Amino acid sequence: MRLFDTHAHLHFPDYGDDLEAVLDRAHAAGVCGMVTIGTDRETNRAVVAMARRLPDVWATVGIHPHDAEEATEADFAEMERLAREEPKVVGFGEMGLDFFRNLSPPQTQRQVFRRQIAIARAVGKPLVIHCRDAHEDTLALLAEERADASTLGSSSHWPAP
Ligand SMILES: [Zn+2]
Repeated sequence: MRLFDTHAHLHFPDYGDDLEAVLDRAHAAGVCGMVTIGTDRETNRAVVAMARRLPDVWATVGIHPHDAEEATEADFAEMERLAREEPKVVGFGEMGLDFFRNLSPPQTQRQVFRRQIAIARAVGKPLVIHCRDAHEDTLALLAEERADASTLGSSSHWPAP
């Protein structure tokens, strides 16, 4: 069976020493492609660099709710540019709400989530959602933003593995 991993963080330092071995094991297990998911300014740059370098790896750019408080206008502009210009950026996120750890204030999480939905809509990319202890709020916010398949990118943005 062929598998496609839609949510990995291959750029994390945990894989700094043995990334090639991890990729080899994934391929041996039938994984024919992976999306490595950006979570903040630095990792958005790292995922794009990795996707450029590795043929079987794609990327998304986003601000994780943990990092919402650190997000700047320059970050949003850079994410939009990367999503428009980099052919291997296939989605936007991860974004969402995390009321378990609340590393950023809930109101900031909501603002940064809404902002990313708007950019994803502008660039026509699907969303990658992080949600922990916030399911009702996440679904309500997505409904308020009308974030569904009719207003966001379609699966046509995804690569055919
Ligand atoms: Zn993740």
